[in-house]
Amino acid sequence: MKAAYLSAIDKPLEIRDVPVPDPKDGEVRIRAHASGVCGTDVHYWRGILPLSLPIVLGHEPVGIVDKLGPGITTLQPGDRVGVSWVQAGCGRCPCCQKEQIQYCAEQYNWIRLGGGHSEFMIARAEGCTLLPDGLDWQDAAPLLCAGYTVMSGYRNGKPKPGETVAVIGIGGLGHLAIQVVKAMGHRTIAITSQETKRSEAKALGADEVVVVGCHAGRELVEIGGADVILSTSNSMKHNSQAIEGLLPEGRFVTMAIANERIDVDPLQMLECQWSLIGSQQCGRKDLVEILNLTAQGKVKPQVETYGLEDINLVMKRLADGEVRYRSVLMIEQ
Ligand SMILES: [Zn+2]
Ligand SMILES: [Zn+2]
Repeated sequence: MKAAYLSAIDKPLEIRDVPVPDPKDGEVRIRAHASGVCGTDVHYWRGILPLSLPIVLGHEPVGIVDKLGPGITTLQPGDRVGVSWVQAGCGRCPCCQKEQIQYCAEQYNWIRLGGGHSEFMIARAEGCTLLPDGLDWQDAAPLLCAGYTVMSGYRNGKPKPGETVAVIGIGGLGHLAIQVVKAMGHRTIAITSQETKRSEAKALGADEVVVVGCHAGRELVEIGGADVILSTSNSMKHNSQAIEGLLPEGRFVTMAIANERIDVDPLQMLECQWSLIGSQQCGRKDLVEILNLTAQGKVKPQVETYGLEDINLVMKRLADGEVRYRSVLMIEQ
């Protein structure tokens, strides 16, 4: 089978021909149909996040269960599934005992088991989520990381009916976040640094768009502020400014990865009782919610499709900020 390997930092990924793996206890083998390419793949490629090499990247895989490991009863060959980043916990640590497998230090994930940019992959059975009928492979793939992350971010921000929600950063995550916020009935504000994204954000459902000029927060205040800000922006300068656009008791939910710091004035934070919330993928219920919203047509991922052999072109487009809004490798066999 063919698989895209990251063998050296900042060097092109290599398509290698390797034996088809066999599932062991607790595992299944999946015949891939599509695999989304996430900004985090670029962080690993560039060496911003540590990783032992070589490795197959890809944590938005969807496909068909092809072979069961010994004793698996929860899945059947032919099931359409997606595999999330965290697949299972060790089962024994204090976090696993509280069903918080995302914090487990011994968790099973793609780094341990191999990623999705491959014709076949191995996953823990518990890490596979059944896909709703009628959901296309290319629409499903971006939900396994981007969609799942923003759905958890929305839930962690605890927006109440009638509250205003802003999304900062209109990319792979943000374009889905705008649609989720709109589908939930909130006044929806998009915040972007690019004038060219104004009309795109409107088309995604934003009621209003702030194109950051001098100060994202002050410009947000000018149109009434926001109760919740969902941040998918890698610009910590704009994020730090945007916090000042929160209404009293507002919540800033950060989902982006960067090697800079968020800067916040503690006195202002105290006076307004703002919350700064870090958010990651927070349990299968959030993933199922975004899968269902998308299957119902309330959210529509905008994707560019490529073949597995185009992985280096995709990585370059992603690093250059050219992707609108998610690249998906179609791995038909
Ligand atoms: Zn991701
Ligand atoms: Zn554990």
